[in-house]
Amino acid sequence: MNQGEFDIVIVGGGLVGASLALALAGQWRVALLERALPPLPAALPQDWDNRIFAISPGSQAFLAGLGAWPPLRAGCIREMDVRGDAGGSIHFDALELASEQLAATVENRGLQALLWQALQGRVELLAPASLHAVQFDADHVSLTLADGASIQARLAVAADGAYSWLREQAGIAFARQPYEQQGVVANFSCQRPHGDIARQWFGHDGILAWLPLPGNRISMVWSTGNQHATELLGMAPELLAARVAAAGGHGLGVLAPLCPAAGFPLSLGRAERSIGRRLALVGDAAHTVHPLAGQGVNLGFGDARVLADLLNAKPGRDPGDAMLLQSYARSRAEEVLLMQTVCDGLQKLFASTDPVLGCVRNMGLQLTDALGPLKRTLMRQAFR
Ligand SMILES: Cc1cc2nc3c(=O)[nH]c(=O)nc-3n(C[C@H](O)[C@H](O)[C@H](O)COP(=O)(O)OP(=O)(O)OC[C@H]3O[C@@H](n4cnc5c(N)ncnc54)[C@H](O)[C@@H]3O)c2cc1C
Repeated sequence: MNQGEFDIVIVGGGLVGASLALALAGQWRVALLERALPPLPAALPQDWDNRIFAISPGSQAFLAGLGAWPPLRAGCIREMDVRGDAGGSIHFDALELASEQLAATVENRGLQALLWQALQGRVELLAPASLHAVQFDADHVSLTLADGASIQARLAVAADGAYSWLREQAGIAFARQPYEQQGVVANFSCQRPHGDIARQWFGHDGILAWLPLPGNRISMVWSTGNQHATELLGMAPELLAARVAAAGGHGLGVLAPLCPAAGFPLSLGRAERSIGRRLALVGDAAHTVHPLAGQGVNLGFGDARVLADLLNAKPGRDPGDAMLLQSYARSRAEEVLLMQTVCDGLQKLFASTDPVLGCVRNMGLQLTDALGPLKRTLMRQAFR
């Protein structure tokens, strides 16, 4: 059974794969293959997805250009208050960048549903679809689905996440360094207004972040050791809320749970190559970072934007052309390496129990806070 011939087939319809499909839809015949059911927005207003992402202004502009921004509900981070474990602190304010916000907070499910809605009728959507085999030939890629259907394309894109099946089939190794931590996520309503301020504490129990959601609500990401994570995930929702409120010094008063908590294992990961024969890797399939700076999906949107720009610049060209793919790999290497190095360095600096490092890291926060130009350079990198 032949399902069809396409210019580009994208495997994985998460935020990165779906945004890439939309960016290519006008110029190329695109198939998007997703193993899960198509995403649906929240059925009820009180349903909150526990996967909340901070979306940078640059990613927002990319999504707006695709007609997939803003989502129905988004929070705004105007300021960010970061505390070290021994008195150090740093404060970021969007005003310092002459901007209205540092980032927006959105639900994974809501944004994915918006992207998929925009894709209807514009690309071939195959979901749920299960892949069985792939073959990379000199002039095309052939994919066989579990139901026997086959797809041919001139370029395949792996957007199928950190455990990418397509990357593995292409024989591209992935260097993974587990942090032996999980990101425990949950949403809470809070007694006092959060003032659009994101709060983050680097402490002995890991890194705790509270991100503002619309109204009196916050999303928590607690990146913490596996044992502590298991303990948090095993708690009754009300007890977890009380623990989280206490860990944040009761700064927003009483917290009440809005959804069940979930845990995600954290690792630093990098594919040995971000391209192969008629193959490009994007998003978590190419790289994973520690969530302490909320940059993972933003890096993925950067991959999608750059790859789409290169492909759309020359519509008549072979989309699997090796030179084009090399340009893509070169364009993304520096930003990905920089972000991975910074996030990994910060994680290690604050995870260390060395008292000298403990002193240095808190002084570092204080000093950076006091040095306007350095601080603004950092902000431009992190919140662009
Ligand atoms: C706790 C935590 C907090 C985070 N917070 C932030 C944040 O605030 N900001 C930020 O930028 N990033 C954040 N991240 C990172 C972010 O979650 C990821 O970078 C992002 O989800 C990657 O998107 P993706 O589309 O590349 O991959 P995924 O979201 O993993 O999507 C992959 C898709 O591929 C599909 N798939 C998988 N295998 C197959 C297959 N064989 N065939 C077909 N389909 C397949 C999956 O079903 C899925 O839909 C956070 C991560 C964690 C763990």
